[in-house]
Amino acid sequence: MAKINTIHCKDETSTAVAVKVLSQAILKFYADQPKNAASLFVSLDGDLGAGKTTATRYLLKAMGYGGKVKSPTYSLCEEHTFQLPNHRELHVFHFDLYRMQSPSEWQEAGLLEHFDHQDGQDRLTLCIIEWPQKAEHTLPVMDLAITLAHPSEPTSELARAIEIAAMTAKGEAILNQLSTP
Ligand code: ADP
Ligand code: MG
Repeated sequence: MAKINTIHCKDETSTAVAVKVLSQAILKFYADQPKNAASLFVSLDGDLGAGKTTATRYLLKAMGYGGKVKSPTYSLCEEHTFQLPNHRELHVFHFDLYRMQSPSEWQEAGLLEHFDHQDGQDRLTLCIIEWPQKAEHTLPVMDLAITLAHPSEPTSELARAIEIAAMTAKGEAILNQLSTP
């Protein structure tokens, strides 16, 4: 069974803090790679407005990216490249598949190539996918499957919940970092 960690965020600031903690664990994952070649797949589930793009912005910022993180709603994919604190370069592919009618659309656009043989390439990559269900069966196994729950009761102290599930050994190593004080 997948290992799951749930964090409750009563406001956007606590979301930023939670994502920052996750970013530190992800940075450690890349820093621990003996070679300059590793990929990480992260899916972001949740309704429109649940905070998927917002979480991605906080994540990349906390990892050291100083540029703008535009929502990939229209482009399907936005790419960002920046230096990690250990000066290695990270290639980020941020997808939003909401507008995709069928998985063949991104196959035709050549975007699916981003998922092929990532580990075999001589680079560090991070693929973040909003609306992964639109890809149906064309996605590889995600290392981390994150679900953002939008509250039906906005006044609740536990207003938003971020559920992080580790689906692979890589994902589990990252999640274990979160529970390490
Ligand atoms: P999605 O990508 O899931 O459609 P967005 O990230 O684009 O959602 O939008 C989420 C909106 O909700 C943003 O305007 C953000 O400022 C707001 N927001 C309010 N509270 C939170 C919170 N706790 N976490 C994330 N976003 C929040
Ligand atoms: Mg979005």
